[in-house]
Amino acid sequence: MACRYSWCETPADMHAEDPSYHTRELGHGMKLTVENSGMPGTNWMPDWSEWWIDKPEDVETEYESVIAMLRDLPKNYQEFREALMNDPQFTEEVATMQAELKGVKK
Ligand SMILES: [Zn+2]
Repeated sequence: MACRYSWCETPADMHAEDPSYHTRELGHGMKLTVENSGMPGTNWMPDWSEWWIDKPEDVETEYESVIAMLRDLPKNYQEFREALMNDPQFTEEVATMQAELKGVKK
């Protein structure tokens, strides 16, 4: 199923399992995501080793764009968070998922 958020990059099959899991990639391994608790958060898996080992000559140029990504992170995260927290449908999706998680744990 397609997501109602145009920026959301969660694959359709994952959305079918967890409709509350909205994501947005900012590049360099930085991903805006929804935590298990239902709160918007971030997940960063930097691709440094790829540069140091495979493309050391790119480190300087890539580093500039990492800095740019980090500089814009607070603004992008805030937009992400507000879009979700101001959306009653998201609140419902989280409630549904939390209820399901509790059901699994019994
Ligand atoms: Zn989504």
